[in-house]
Amino acid sequence: MKKILVWLRNDLRLHDNIPLHEAMQKAEKVWVAHCIESRLFAKNQLDIPKTGAFRAKFLLESLLDLRLQLRKQGSDLIIRFGKPETEIAKMAEILQVEGIFTSKEITQEELATEEALEKNISSKGIKIEYFWQATLFHINDLPFPVCKLPDVFTDFRKAVEKYAEIRKPLAFTCKNIAPLPENLFAGNLPTLKELGLEEKATSPQATFTFKGGESEALKRLNYYLWESDLIASYKKTRNELLGKDYSSKFSPYLAFGCISPRQIWQEVKKYEKERIANESTYWLIFELLWRDFFRFTAKKYGNRLFYPSGFKGEKLALLKNSETFWKWAKGETGIPFIDANMRELNATGFMSNRGRQNVASFLVKDLKTHWIWGAMYFESLLIDYDVCSNWGNWQYVAGVGNDPRENRYFNIISQAERYDSQAEFIKHWLPALQNVPAKKINHLDELSAKELAEYGVKIGSNYPKNIIKLKQTQAS
Ligand SMILES: Cc1cc2nc3c(=O)[nH]c(=O)nc-3n(C[C@H](O)[C@H](O)[C@H](O)COP(=O)(O)OP(=O)(O)OC[C@H]3O[C@@H](n4cnc5c(N)ncnc54)[C@H](O)[C@@H]3O)c2cc1C
Repeated sequence: MKKILVWLRNDLRLHDNIPLHEAMQKAEKVWVAHCIESRLFAKNQLDIPKTGAFRAKFLLESLLDLRLQLRKQGSDLIIRFGKPETEIAKMAEILQVEGIFTSKEITQEELATEEALEKNISSKGIKIEYFWQATLFHINDLPFPVCKLPDVFTDFRKAVEKYAEIRKPLAFTCKNIAPLPENLFAGNLPTLKELGLEEKATSPQATFTFKGGESEALKRLNYYLWESDLIASYKKTRNELLGKDYSSKFSPYLAFGCISPRQIWQEVKKYEKERIANESTYWLIFELLWRDFFRFTAKKYGNRLFYPSGFKGEKLALLKNSETFWKWAKGETGIPFIDANMRELNATGFMSNRGRQNVASFLVKDLKTHWIWGAMYFESLLIDYDVCSNWGNWQYVAGVGNDPRENRYFNIISQAERYDSQAEFIKHWLPALQNVPAKKINHLDELSAKELAEYGVKIGSNYPKNIIKLKQTQAS
């Protein structure tokens, strides 16, 4: 082929980018485009945008970073807004390419887009080639066909660790990336306002902020491994709640593909050789296997990812009570550990893994409210939203996914006392509770009026009354 258009989707990077690499080998001229999908900014059933301002900002930053990198190569990133099946088809025609190279996606809306694009280009003699690249293990290297994927994570992990190999990441060597034709407008990056979103000022309570882009992703990788050696204690710190260093914070970069999981894996292997290999360095790769597991499971079960009855097909008697749901969503349940986590999410677009497990369990198991709403709320708010990880994890916590432990229940009070024993996290996000002793903070309804007055807590005024009475007796 002489000319190829690379359509970037959730793979906003130049390094280890298989469609880009393949295009550069096969074509004399390669152009790179991204279509900001209008459907991603539509409102969902909760009447909130599917993509909120935190993630949209991260996306725009990632596109700008790519654009600047491609400009250094004498080219540019072509940016369009709308439906990829229309915009990418139009662009392919204008550039008179013979092929479109892109990543393979697996979920409903993305597949529908692929199908529509194929239809639009089929009569024009333009071919489309898909490349699998979102996971650590390539789908073709799994020791079983996806339809036989184990339903239990440990079985999956043991099998891939024993029988499969991770492919080496591809370096970026610029070849055949062509300048844009003179009369072709590269396209402006929209503002958040143009996407129908409001710019959110950085919360003064945020302990870190994310900036999108491949350059930032590689910086974070370098920081987390080589500059700080934080990876060497990851297993001990990963369940903490406050600050930028207790976990890798790779998730938004992975979700947008600003970094590839293979690139992280290769760097960890190098770190293990040159500095230290321990259970923490292993554990980071272990977590990336969870990410793979959710993606392959979504591939195996298709649209069941979005079914209320989940992969298991389990019928749940859950309510759609919008009053309690919105109290949960806004962090106004009167349960400090839940509210602190939800307020972090609302103020920053991020929440720790420990926090996510607890707020999800609380919504489903304590409030008996539908998990689908929780997943939709997360989809809108999370800066690192990933369709398979989000919906898969929600199913897992709700008990309709691939959890071998029937009826997993997170006891919120025990969890709070275990993972936030000094109540630093709660006090950080709920300043109204700052004078309450850590031992009492998860038991506000047991405090006398005198004690509440002494600590400056006015229930129903500066802190909400609890919407449910939690007991500490159930297992955590
Ligand atoms: C209800 C719920 C919803 C979630 N939604 C998302 C989501 O939309 N996007 C997302 O990336 N993660 C999601 N997670 C998983 C996990 O909470 C985040 O990946 C993690 O908190 C991100 O922070 P980190 O990068 O510092 O993680 P680290 O602890 O540093 O882990 C490293 C990487 O491993 C992967 N990982 C770790 N835990 C998981 C997991 N349980 N499932 C899948 N991958 C994992 C992520 O890619 C992460 O970046 C969800 C978890 C729950 C319980």
